[in-house]
Amino acid sequence: MRLTRYFLPVLKETPAEAQIVSHRLMLRAGMIKQASAGIYSWLPLGYRVLRRIEQIVHEEQIRAGHIPMLMPTLQSADLWRESGRYDDYGQEMLRITDRHGRDMLYGPTNEELITDIFRAHVNSYKDLPLTLYHIQWKFRDEIRPRFGVMRGREFLMKDGYNFDLDKEAALHAYNRHLVSYLRSYERMGLQAIPMRADGGPIGGDYTHEFLVLAETGESEVFYDSQITELKFGDRAVDYDSVAECRAVLEEFTSRYARTDETHDEAAFHAQVPEARRRSARGIEVGQIFYFGTKYSEAMGATVVGPDGARVPVHMGSHGIGVSRLLGAIIEASHDEKGIIWPEGVTPFPAGIVNLKQGDAAADAACEGLYGALVARGLEPLYDDRAERAGAKFATMDLIGLPWRITVGPRGLEKGVVELTSRRTGESAEMTPEAAVDRLSQIYVAL
Ligand code: ATP
Ligand code: MG
Repeated sequence: MRLTRYFLPVLKETPAEAQIVSHRLMLRAGMIKQASAGIYSWLPLGYRVLRRIEQIVHEEQIRAGHIPMLMPTLQSADLWRESGRYDDYGQEMLRITDRHGRDMLYGPTNEELITDIFRAHVNSYKDLPLTLYHIQWKFRDEIRPRFGVMRGREFLMKDGYNFDLDKEAALHAYNRHLVSYLRSYERMGLQAIPMRADGGPIGGDYTHEFLVLAETGESEVFYDSQITELKFGDRAVDYDSVAECRAVLEEFTSRYARTDETHDEAAFHAQVPEARRRSARGIEVGQIFYFGTKYSEAMGATVVGPDGARVPVHMGSHGIGVSRLLGAIIEASHDEKGIIWPEGVTPFPAGIVNLKQGDAAADAACEGLYGALVARGLEPLYDDRAERAGAKFATMDLIGLPWRITVGPRGLEKGVVELTSRRTGESAEMTPEAAVDRLSQIYVAL
């Protein structure tokens, strides 16, 4: 993409309404624009990152054997009356009446809709296990939408639902989700720690929230510092193996890590030596939940079991806050100049800065680099504006592309360009071909 042909409305001023750094930077970098309270338009740069995150979520869910689909945003109230949640949900639910006077709602989540699909089409235990998911906009009429996309009213969520014959199988689905979430967050350059959460009125130990540690997080968390040393890495896990998935769950959840809802000071002290006890703030970027037969019983989602009798299926639901993740990633990765995108989610793999637009050699070198990167599947953002170098560097630093190639007449006389890491600030001179090779190596490894 050439910057002169792009739409990147960066702001010079720091917007007064933004209280936290990720919100400020997303506005300044021209990624989002508020449409109304808690509702945002995704401008081209923000949209590119949102799509990258979605893509990682899709790839990892499909790898785990979960099946993508798409359910609508608007739902009929009738299904929610069946589950009993229409009245329970309260004012967070946006209720709408259509022209025929029918009660509708903008879905805050999809347990009812998916259970309705399941009961209409699945009849036998032989069709299990089954996990369906989608990535769709949700609406929750949050009393205090704030922090930009972190707590929106309209937000993008991945929500997946597993259907299994019994508790044991459903817990394998739970573990599979935990593994796939760990992989997903790491690919996004994030450490998200599974913490034991509150099962709400349904209770039970089978729910974990994934938290990214950040001062601006809305959750208070307590954990054993050893947990921050765990890495999923690029290990291969067989998602069909009950033992392998359970081993990952045990590895990542055996140490003390809880949100304030489940925190137990006495247990914390008994389990964790003082030097490793931490209390901090965190951003919830996902949650997994096994809830048994709550919806299947209320809504008659049963299958014929091996012995011929109908039994309600065991279910769980599993969510990732796709749009919130942009804020969480920026909170975890920025400096005073702007965003620092991890390579896994960056809107463009690299930026090209032409120090002397209009100089024949510089222009030709930039065009050459541009074509070579595109040919490797690495579409760069080429700052081809007739601006001063300082302004170009400031824009690149603000929007946070992990790599910058700087091209100028002086370097070209020696046959070199400069490759600079946004994260470390380190630069190296090399031929344009070497810079392209270097970037290919970095991105192919992801
Ligand atoms: P919270 O406690 O932050 O209100 P939640 O526990 O009600 O969230 P879930 O139902 O678990 O949310 O939804 C799954 C994921 O969707 C959450 O882990 C979070 O990342 C994201 N999410 C929830 N509410 C919002 C929101 N208002 N804006 C953006 N993302 C959200
Ligand atoms: Mg939650």
